[in-house]
Amino acid sequence: MIKWFLFLLLIFGKIGCAAKGARKPKSPLLAGTQFLSFSDLVLFSGANSYNINSCESIEVFYNIRTDLEKLTYAAFISKIVSDVTYENQYTYKILQLLLNTLYMISETDVDKDFILSVFELRLMLLLGFAPNLSKCAICGDKENICYFSIGNSGFVCNNCR
Ligand SMILES: [Zn+2]
Repeated sequence: MIKWFLFLLLIFGKIGCAAKGARKPKSPLLAGTQFLSFSDLVLFSGANSYNINSCESIEVFYNIRTDLEKLTYAAFISKIVSDVTYENQYTYKILQLLLNTLYMISETDVDKDFILSVFELRLMLLLGFAPNLSKCAICGDKENICYFSIGNSGFVCNNCR
């Protein structure tokens, strides 16, 4: 039986891989190919896709697996990353952000909505959608900026509000 995955990799970006026999309970690929596992993979190129030859888990984020709230946030973050990345796109910085965010969810008790907000803002920065935080997004005034406008993508001064 073949199990299909989408992986974010340091070198290739996101790619699809097949892991033959990974669902068998005694498979050596079982731990390293679980959802949210960060693993060191050995791949070989097949006719149409990559196949996983062997893998070794680096981090499995065990605390996320035992907490439904943490798992919900981690799955949502993984879905966002999957939606905004393309196959074979260089995604090293996004992978770094994803791993740091999963670590924060797994190992700390920081408010999950706060972690999610920081993740979304950092991801927007990496994708090139940085909000204007240094001056008023409408008039350019650097004084009296006191509101954030999603519609104007940045801070807005008291006069332009
Ligand atoms: Zn203004």
